[in-house]
Amino acid sequence: MSNPIEYLKGVGPLRADLLKKELGIFTFGQLLDHFPYRYVDKTRIRTIAEINPATDTILLQGVITEVDTSGEKRGRRLTAQFRDRTGTLELTWFQGIGWMQKFLVPGQVYTVYGKPAFFLGRPQITHPEIEAVQPEGQDGRNFMEPVYPSTEKLKVRGLTGRQIGKLTFNLFQLISERDIPENLPQNLLRLMGLPSRWEAYRDIHFPGSQTACDRAMERLKFEEFFIAQLRMGMLRANRHRYSQGVPLVKVGPWFNEFYERHLPFQLTGAQKRVMKEIRRDTAAGRQMNRLLQGDVGSGKTIVALLTMLLAADNGYQSCLMAPTEILSQQHYEGLSKLLKEMPVRVELLTGSTKSAERKRILAATLEGSVHILIGTHALIEQKVQFARLGMAIVDEQHRFGVAQRAKLWEKAATPPHVLVMTATPIPRTLAMTAYGDLDISVMDELPPGRQPIKTVHRLEDRRPQVMDFIRDEITRGRQIYIIFPLIEESDKMDYENLMRGYENVKAWFPEPRYRISMVHGRMKADQKEANMQRFVRNETQIMVATTVIEVGVNVPNASVMVIESAEKFGLSQLHQLRGRVGRGSEQSYCILLTGNKVSKEAKERLHVFCATNDGFKIAEKDLELRGPGDIEGTRQSGALNFKLANIISDRALLERAREHTTLILEQDPELTSTEHTGLRTFLQQVRGRNEWSRIS
Ligand code: ADP
Ligand code: MG
Repeated sequence: MSNPIEYLKGVGPLRADLLKKELGIFTFGQLLDHFPYRYVDKTRIRTIAEINPATDTILLQGVITEVDTSGEKRGRRLTAQFRDRTGTLELTWFQGIGWMQKFLVPGQVYTVYGKPAFFLGRPQITHPEIEAVQPEGQDGRNFMEPVYPSTEKLKVRGLTGRQIGKLTFNLFQLISERDIPENLPQNLLRLMGLPSRWEAYRDIHFPGSQTACDRAMERLKFEEFFIAQLRMGMLRANRHRYSQGVPLVKVGPWFNEFYERHLPFQLTGAQKRVMKEIRRDTAAGRQMNRLLQGDVGSGKTIVALLTMLLAADNGYQSCLMAPTEILSQQHYEGLSKLLKEMPVRVELLTGSTKSAERKRILAATLEGSVHILIGTHALIEQKVQFARLGMAIVDEQHRFGVAQRAKLWEKAATPPHVLVMTATPIPRTLAMTAYGDLDISVMDELPPGRQPIKTVHRLEDRRPQVMDFIRDEITRGRQIYIIFPLIEESDKMDYENLMRGYENVKAWFPEPRYRISMVHGRMKADQKEANMQRFVRNETQIMVATTVIEVGVNVPNASVMVIESAEKFGLSQLHQLRGRVGRGSEQSYCILLTGNKVSKEAKERLHVFCATNDGFKIAEKDLELRGPGDIEGTRQSGALNFKLANIISDRALLERAREHTTLILEQDPELTSTEHTGLRTFLQQVRGRNEWSRIS
């Protein structure tokens, strides 16, 4: 399998070079892993008489009777008459005419494959795949012919999608079952009714029937999921077994005092459960590496605070890192207020902390008298040194890169526990594959008494009513967000739209009766900050903004979120925006404004969004509509790059793979039993081929 590809019959140095450059195929084994993307079903040669306007692609066999060219230069075309025993059909080429002229010999038998169209009532096929039928050999038999992904450069060298199949065919003449040993346990294959690895490889390249092809496909997809899950399961188990963390053994006086005397409400069931999970992790002496997913407003902050008190009770410092100045400021103020009657020292460190203040905070942190340090990524800087950092909490995870988070590691001899909090729910299927090596907590419950946000979609012609509604809400003392799409901060048109929108809002809500803030990405940081603060302090009633305000801002008095050109936003983004309202006790509203013409997909998206407030449902739907490639934070993880399997359409298979890996790892965590020899060997071979990203 590791033989260089140039040693294969039909390859040679030139083609080998191209195969390497174009498809990354260096070895025999890699050619085997280059799978067909479709097949020409030669088991079913059909007839011209069968063709009707509903016919999709069709395979025919017959003779060429006439070949003609017509037209000049770019209008030049080649037409050939093709006949079988039931009728005739016209074949047309606009390209490669010279070559086709030589290839098409009247009187010879060809197979033709393509999608027919009707012209003046007669069927014809433009640029069909065509092949001379040899009297003997591979092409003479009936079978499913594989067609492989290829590239323009390869095609020029005679390696079209079908010709690559000839190479694969040559390869199969050289190998046997021994070369593709089984890696899955026998009893699992039996249980799942899957073919062996050898059979699967043979049948995916050269299936004898559609059924054989389907079975091979199922086996290989299952294997992909299974191996990926197993590797992540083993990573996780290893971390649980071997990673050293600072033990937070006791629940001490501060935690208890806060819990009993200062907690302003009862914890929700979900919050209690997550606290238990965190307790279990941190008491054990291993390092916690946990992702906390909680929908907007589910109360993650208090979980963070309790966790940091737990660390303080055991003599350790904590840091809480947020993605923006405003958010860290809000955390600082909120937590300071909650802790005001307790001797816990909380400090705030951001890019705009004055230098004398900064010096003071850095010294106190190094000396250990700061218990909780809150800040932006200023916290990551080399200069920030802790005496005993035991807990690092990261809020709104998706704004931080993996590398940034990893820097928190280096701040203590024994790595601190890490809790990453995100309001972007990750669908279960995605979490299983992308973050399978992490521990995950889910808060799927909102604090009691919240009124669900009412969401509606309004067309442009209803704008006056929407503006009237906003005016009423302002009169009742509420505040309003109006969001414009500015997907690329550099996009000139979007920017002009925003400015026009702002003027428009001013016309509806004139000063001095109304006050308006504006925040967008082209503003200087301090200007942004000042505008934001005015809105937070209720000095302005309307906030006109782009998605820069999307994350985490807390203005409980804001009750209406208007989203302009809502069709331009993705579901997850809409959900984040909506989460800015509904934070107080008032009924809140989200109004999606669009032009009168909206595409079908956008309409479906907006419909889904109006129908539910459940972030997990929205995330599932988002995944379904957009595919995994676009999901925030997973783009570079590599964990989703399956060759054949698809985590959405094959999710049933994914679930089964998950079940079986869990079972196997429970029974034989190190894969030492003879039954798992194949698996163990296989994993040793693939190790290092692709490493999954870790959260921290
Ligand atoms: P998020 O998960 O979006 O960060 P926050 O932590 O900001 O949510 O909490 C949102 C609001 O809910 C805050 O005002 C907070 O005080 C309140 N809250 C949190 N937990 C509870 C609870 N168990 N009961 C009532 N209110 C709560
Ligand atoms: Mg929050």
